[in-house]
Amino acid sequence: MMKYSVSAKILRTLASSCRNPRSFSTGQYDSIPKEKADAVVIGAGVVGIAVARALAMRHGRDVVVIESAPTFGTGTSSRNSEVIHAGIYYPRNSLKALFCVRGRQLMYKYCKEHEIPHRQIGKLIVATSPSEIPKLNLLMTRGVENGVEGLRMMEGHEAARMEPELQCMKALLSPVSGIVDSHSFMLSLLGEAETHGTIFSYSTTVIGGHRGDDGINLHISESKSLQNWDKKSRLKPDLILTPRLVVNCAGLGALALCKRMQGINEGTIPRPYFARGCYFTLSNVKTPPFQHLIYPIPEDGGIGIHVTLDLNGQVKFGPNVEWINGADDVSSFFNLFDYSVPRDRANRFCSEIRRYYPSLKDGSLEPGYAGIRPKLCGPGQSPTDFVIQGEEIHGIPGLINLLGIESPGLTSSMAIADHITATLSK
Ligand SMILES: Cc1cc2nc3c(=O)[nH]c(=O)nc-3n(C[C@H](O)[C@H](O)[C@H](O)COP(=O)(O)OP(=O)(O)OC[C@H]3O[C@@H](n4cnc5c(N)ncnc54)[C@H](O)[C@@H]3O)c2cc1C
Repeated sequence: MMKYSVSAKILRTLASSCRNPRSFSTGQYDSIPKEKADAVVIGAGVVGIAVARALAMRHGRDVVVIESAPTFGTGTSSRNSEVIHAGIYYPRNSLKALFCVRGRQLMYKYCKEHEIPHRQIGKLIVATSPSEIPKLNLLMTRGVENGVEGLRMMEGHEAARMEPELQCMKALLSPVSGIVDSHSFMLSLLGEAETHGTIFSYSTTVIGGHRGDDGINLHISESKSLQNWDKKSRLKPDLILTPRLVVNCAGLGALALCKRMQGINEGTIPRPYFARGCYFTLSNVKTPPFQHLIYPIPEDGGIGIHVTLDLNGQVKFGPNVEWINGADDVSSFFNLFDYSVPRDRANRFCSEIRRYYPSLKDGSLEPGYAGIRPKLCGPGQSPTDFVIQGEEIHGIPGLINLLGIESPGLTSSMAIADHITATLSK
């Protein structure tokens, strides 16, 4: 395979040159420095890092990862439950089901081999009223269809023997669910990607692109130079990169970025929705009240305010579902979301949590953190699958878009990466 000297030099130049964005019209690309590249991954979240690693290790590609933030994993990848999901919730043969089951297996193996902190602590999904029992049965059926190992339905009293603080009528035990230190996981994948020649260019933003005679042209700017942008005028790139392959792993910004690709078939870009999920931590406890992950029956837009334990023994409750109204392309492109966790949400959390943990004490919840789900369905709509689009769908050669990579995206990351490399090998 042809080796590209690539953009390292140019991107370093880019990082040291602070230019202000200027307005320009189509046809003015000539004055902009251009560089060829082999493969570009947009976004250094867990998915982008896993994809870059797989491209470099399995495909021998020269990979450049372009990340708008000053370091990796600062987006949704560091604002989640850090749960290794089993693969129970998703329709049979959906990408979510396939990638979650496969991704989980790959992740456990990887974590063991690379000594990434993780624990397969198991999870109980609980029905707390008679009306929830058919929904729990449905989850059991789905999980079995998806190939989730070891699922077992149990009566409430049996679940209470495992977890004395738990109150429920029935529970579904998933022994293969677990927790992981997602930062260590990303750091390890990233190290391997770098060892195989991948270059990570931080504080660098892909502001758009166009379809040129030589393939896809990516418009790239130093992130700092976008801070003073008036949000209206057209941005002028500092560099145009012409890669043979681009994988858009921009998470919350992925759809807005699609719209900034001139020549893309706009009709193929799904409508974005966003839903915030807040977490509260349990304070003033010496020992965690639970040994397993405890999940209620899923709700519209999420899988319910659950109990998550992290590897330091801290207990977290969340995430709830707060649909975000009026998020436009600019706010998602620049990740201008509100990540605060208002203290007054605690009351609503308490009443949800007490359905399965009745002895939760008043005043024991402290605001934690929030994450935003990049969704492709809105309130009341049926859940959607992950979307992976290639040229045959959107019309731009060399571009692969990963859209709607919400939960279980962390668990699925290595399987998504495998899928991309397998598709390219065909
Ligand atoms: C509340 C919550 C709880 C969750 N819990 C779990 C869980 O327990 N288990 C699980 O498996 N999954 C979970 N998920 C899902 C999981 O966190 C995500 O699917 C996963 O982190 C997505 O990773 P990503 O790399 O696609 O996106 P991100 O982590 O968001 O990474 C995208 C990156 O792209 C960068 N970027 C964006 N635009 C540009 C641009 N134009 N140029 C350059 N860079 C750009 C961003 O800065 C960011 O670093 C949860 C999600 C949420 C919101």
